[in-house]
Amino acid sequence: AADAAMYHAKTLGKNNVQFYSTELSRVVHQHWLLEANLSRAIRNREMVLGYQPKVDLRTGRVVGAEALVRWHSPERGVVGPDKFIPIAEQTGLIVPLGDWVIGEACATLRSLATLGVVDFVISVNLSARQLRQRHFVEHLATTLREHSIAPNALELEVTESQLMDNPAAALEALAQLKALGVRLSIDDFGTGYSSLSYLQKFPVDVIKIDRSFLGDVASEGDAVIARAIIALGHNLKLEVIAEGVETREQLAFLQDHECDQMQGYYFSPALPQDRLSSMVCNDVRMVV
Ligand code: C2E
Ligand code: MG
Ligand code: MG
Ligand code: MG
Repeated sequence: AADAAMYHAKTLGKNNVQFYSTELSRVVHQHWLLEANLSRAIRNREMVLGYQPKVDLRTGRVVGAEALVRWHSPERGVVGPDKFIPIAEQTGLIVPLGDWVIGEACATLRSLATLGVVDFVISVNLSARQLRQRHFVEHLATTLREHSIAPNALELEVTESQLMDNPAAALEALAQLKALGVRLSIDDFGTGYSSLSYLQKFPVDVIKIDRSFLGDVASEGDAVIARAIIALGHNLKLEVIAEGVETREQLAFLQDHECDQMQGYYFSPALPQDRLSSMVCNDVRMVV
């Protein structure tokens, strides 16, 4: 909380001491409240994973899903990750929360396998702070083994901006994860100022085009960037997935430019685990 308060304090006006101290204590207090509630929420199992289907653009089949965490708070209702992940990152609570997310995703993969679903990939979002944990890779290997999950059924998404924060450290961490055999993807691609030389060195399998570049693919401005990202990914022998696909026009554009997969409200939002399972078991397809 102290770190966060310092951060907020630095962003506040420096000449008004009165305002500064009042604002500072308010921020500290709010932060402390949320932090206390968040650690209780993890213990009380108030966190829930939704699974957003990922669709193969050639066949229309659901080939994977992204796990997205929500907080079902008794006081606040459903709270989205944008509200609490940043605080979990600042306080370190992201480590137990992230472990829970990975365990839960592995349990879902196991339950799908039991239903006869193979070749299905679940991705989870990872914070840089988790990557920096000393025994993260060993711990992950243990979790995969405990659930009898093939490493390549799990994909780890890290945002481009978090990778580029310390690219040398990220490269080392990604290399260890790749050696374990999990799939790796760069999330929100195009928003984080990648150095192209690093992009080529990162041992990733997938890049995810940030949804801001699909806004209006009918306009040349957005289309030119989306096309360039697809071409860049394919030239680097990576799979390219588009996120935030909402319209028939965006879908057609992505198919025309041979993007590999899509996810977005056009097909489905994140679903509870049982609804994902029945969708996959019934081989529900997107009309392509
Ligand atoms: P993200 O990984 O880029 O996830 C995509 C976000 O876009 C999700 O928001 C998803 O619900 C939303 N989305 C999907 N399709 C559409 C669409 O067609 N239109 C629009 N407008 N939005 C769409 P959500 O679930 O609120 O997650 C926000 C962010 O929170 C995620 O962005 C991810 O960075 C982070 N996050 C979620 N779960 C976790 C987690 O378990 N761990 C960590 N470290 N971060 C997480
Ligand atoms: Mg993601
Ligand atoms: Mg994203
Ligand atoms: Mg995001």
